[in-house]
Amino acid sequence: MMSRVAVVTGANKGIGFEIVRGLCKQLDGIVYLTARNEKLGQEAVQKLKSEGLNPSFHQLDITNEQSIQALKQHLQDKHGGLDVLVNNAGFAYKAASTAPFGTQAEDTVGINFFGTLAVSKALLPIIRPHGRVVNVSSQGSNMSLSKCSTELQARFRDRSIQEEELVMSLNKFIETAKAGKHKENGFSDSAYGMSKVGVTVLTFIQAREMEKDSREDILVNCMCPGWCKSDMAGWERPPRSAADGADTALFLALLPPNTDSQGLFFYDRKPIPF
Ligand code: NDP
Repeated sequence: MMSRVAVVTGANKGIGFEIVRGLCKQLDGIVYLTARNEKLGQEAVQKLKSEGLNPSFHQLDITNEQSIQALKQHLQDKHGGLDVLVNNAGFAYKAASTAPFGTQAEDTVGINFFGTLAVSKALLPIIRPHGRVVNVSSQGSNMSLSKCSTELQARFRDRSIQEEELVMSLNKFIETAKAGKHKENGFSDSAYGMSKVGVTVLTFIQAREMEKDSREDILVNCMCPGWCKSDMAGWERPPRSAADGADTALFLALLPPNTDSQGLFFYDRKPIPF
């Protein structure tokens, strides 16, 4: 059998780095540590090499279409496809940031939702049978959902929602956030939370599309790593390590053939409601 190929986004540090470390140990195949910053990515690869692990590197900025296409081309030319995709890259403004809320909404949704969407649109078509796609979301998405209007909650929970509507809705969040009118339009006041609502609902959409796909047994799930020490979440208060946070992502990335887990939201290896 051809060896399996895995890609982890935003893997130069934090939870993504731990996901790569785990895959290097547990996946029989080739693991790509990707990072938007080539130098930081190469340094992270060297760190794992010094532990006796052997990740490969490829540059990937999930907000840059050229960068995404270059990775896709590389995967196709060198490996003929992909088996595991972990959409981990993410961004959050610090609570103390003084950036205008509209800017925070645009940047955060731009990376977490539109970036994840762009990577998925490019790479899902080259995932091979028995492939695994893991989207790193957050229970912040559940919290934000509960703060949306009843009407919006119903739309986001509707399992027949289409990608176009989700995209339109998140664009509307950005536009209304710029005008200071996002709350009266039914959105929560967390840019990060809304971006992850996008990631979670996108997961359900992708899973549904996979069910109709002719390729066999490709599973798409999302997860929350829990509150983990990292540059994003801080180093003092979070109780978990980044490695703890990587555990459920690894579990989902390595689900054995013909497991009955499609389009679910996982926390601590168990599906939770959204
Ligand atoms: P870190 O800030 O440590 O890591 C984030 C990673 O994403 C970095 O490698 C960063 O690269 C990368 N990244 C950001 N923007 C881009 C981009 N445009 N293209 C490619 N990579 C990018 O955070 P965590 O490890 O904590 O977070 C990982 C994931 O887990 C995120 O999706 C986050 O939302 C999620 N999460 C984290 C929680 C926590 O408590 N830590 C809780 C719930 C969810 P660079 O170094 O260049 O900035």
